[in-house]
Amino acid sequence: VDQQLAERLSALYERVGAVVQAASPRCEMSGRCCDFPVSEHRLYASDLETEYAVAAAGGKVPPTTSGQCPWYVDGLCQNRKGRPLGCRVYFCDPAWEEGMPLVYERFHAELRVLHDEHALTYSYRLFVDAVVETPRGTPFGTPSGTEASC
Ligand code: SF4
Repeated sequence: VDQQLAERLSALYERVGAVVQAASPRCEMSGRCCDFPVSEHRLYASDLETEYAVAAAGGKVPPTTSGQCPWYVDGLCQNRKGRPLGCRVYFCDPAWEEGMPLVYERFHAELRVLHDEHALTYSYRLFVDAVVETPRGTPFGTPSGTEASC
């Protein structure tokens, strides 16, 4: 069941990627989506997403005391495969301002359904806090491959 859950979440993320790619918002490589203390961007994710992210990183969460996402290193995301929905839809492009919340809400609703169908308690909190608190050795296997780009 856990593997099935991971596959369903992965498929959901792939569909998010297809929708975002079709809209092709511009990434300015500003780091605003990951450098939370500087941007004051507040990234939330469900615990399911956080557990998936930790598993995707092979259970490795770099230490962070800065308040930045632990996987934000030298201006790049080191956990592209595991990043949650909020990261996948966030772009600084002003032309994406209207589309972003619509896409987020659409797939966030799907995430809620995924929780319901797997009888999971829904918990939604600040990603950077949840990552630090998530126990290692998560229920998911480690998705294969790594990507490292913003
Ligand atoms: S998971 Fe990656 S994209 Fe998301 S906040 Fe962290 S470094 Fe940025």
